[in-house]
Amino acid sequence: MSLYLKYRPQTFDDVTWQRHIIDILKKQIELWQTMHNYLFFWPRWTWKTTTARILAKAVNCLNPKNWNPCNQCENCVAINKSQTIDFVEIDAASHTQVDNIREEIIDKAPYPPTQLRKKVYIIDEVHMLSKAAFNALLKIMEEPPEYLMFILATTEINKVPDTIVSRCQVFNFRKLTENEIVSRLKYIAEKENIPYTEKALYLIAYVSEWALRDAVKYLEQVSVLWEVNEENVVKFLWIAPEAQIKEFVSLLKKRYQTWNKETLKNVFDFLTKLELWWVDLWVFAKQVLKYIDFNFLEDIQFYSKLSNLFKKIFLNLKSFPNKLLAFKVEIWEFIKNDQNERIESKKEDSLEKENNIEEKKSEKLDEHSQNENKNVEVKSEESDSLEPKEDNINLMNLMSQLIAKCDKISIRAILKKYASIEWYDWKNIEMIIINKVQYKLLTQESNLKYLENLLRDILWKNDISLHIQYMSKEDFLKRKLQENGS
Ligand SMILES: [Zn+2]
Repeated sequence: MSLYLKYRPQTFDDVTWQRHIIDILKKQIELWQTMHNYLFFWPRWTWKTTTARILAKAVNCLNPKNWNPCNQCENCVAINKSQTIDFVEIDAASHTQVDNIREEIIDKAPYPPTQLRKKVYIIDEVHMLSKAAFNALLKIMEEPPEYLMFILATTEINKVPDTIVSRCQVFNFRKLTENEIVSRLKYIAEKENIPYTEKALYLIAYVSEWALRDAVKYLEQVSVLWEVNEENVVKFLWIAPEAQIKEFVSLLKKRYQTWNKETLKNVFDFLTKLELWWVDLWVFAKQVLKYIDFNFLEDIQFYSKLSNLFKKIFLNLKSFPNKLLAFKVEIWEFIKNDQNERIESKKEDSLEKENNIEEKKSEKLDEHSQNENKNVEVKSEESDSLEPKEDNINLMNLMSQLIAKCDKISIRAILKKYASIEWYDWKNIEMIIINKVQYKLLTQESNLKYLENLLRDILWKNDISLHIQYMSKEDFLKRKLQENGS
């Protein structure tokens, strides 16, 4: 007998990981208040019908133990062996059964049970039923005889008609956590005398995507190689060991600063080697994502870039027959974008430098006016960039939102360094630029329109107009000083 069947839960207490549901069911049985219709919703097919079967046994058991079925009385045995016509299990996903489901329900459900206390229908993947079958089901659910119980189970509750759902007590079964899967695997391995390492069990839990049934299946498969250790799991399930994941991520991290053909080749060679080791690159991509998730806080910037890369790799993996190529194409894109970004930020830097020079020039032109107030001049030398000491947080917020939204690098640099929004009245926004050259640039019609549109977006108002004025840095600072003084 396969381990999966052997260790299938037989009582409520075996289903420890669904405590929130089991406790309610046991209480209902204790108080004789079970419902007529249940709907078990489970995101993946993992023992939901087994749990339904436990419920069917529990309401019929002649000798329950702490409201668990005994699995020994004649009713429990009859259900376990499907040897009674009072217990019907239907898989709606199989067509042969769907064909006669209507007759099954309409013709037979109204008759009282012959052997059991309650007649129980389990309908798995109930969302697959035809409209006619649903109607038949609904009819009987509306006025169910005392002895009748329906346990519907589905992985896609959104496809079950509302009229049916509303007549059921719905239980959402939660997915098992990694630790719960591992502890169940440990329990089975110990009972079966299978040698194992903990790391290997975690690896199995991971590959099974937290579906217990698959995890147990994998445990059994790998145990053929005797010890369930990391190496054997990797060999058997075509996944990469953790060290490889680490190496791959650090390879990308190191290289992405200094890409060239050589470093690119290293990454591609690494992937080719993985394939030669029979690692499934689809699973590998998922493993890398999990690694990113675990270590995200260590380097947020790099890891968010990397997760974007993998988002694209996943898309490619779905459409490319060649998995290796799917990786290569996206890694190449990733590098290209990264390099462009760096070039752009360099441009932004050098533009700022240029602006500094321009500013110095315009300062010289205005020299005579600078001599008027020495105090102010000293201040202006000190403050390298324009930082409004304005208390009005709204204006500053608006300014920083504008800078954030501005995707033209040259304009953004000007805004950052020379612009200040001085007031707005929900129709007019006044902006001051303290550099003549940049003022001319910003007031070009296309640029003005561009900024105006950004502000309209930010403020959600279509009738906003932007007025840009030039003011020398000294005058501007004087004005600020006056404002602060008053
Ligand atoms: Zn029993």
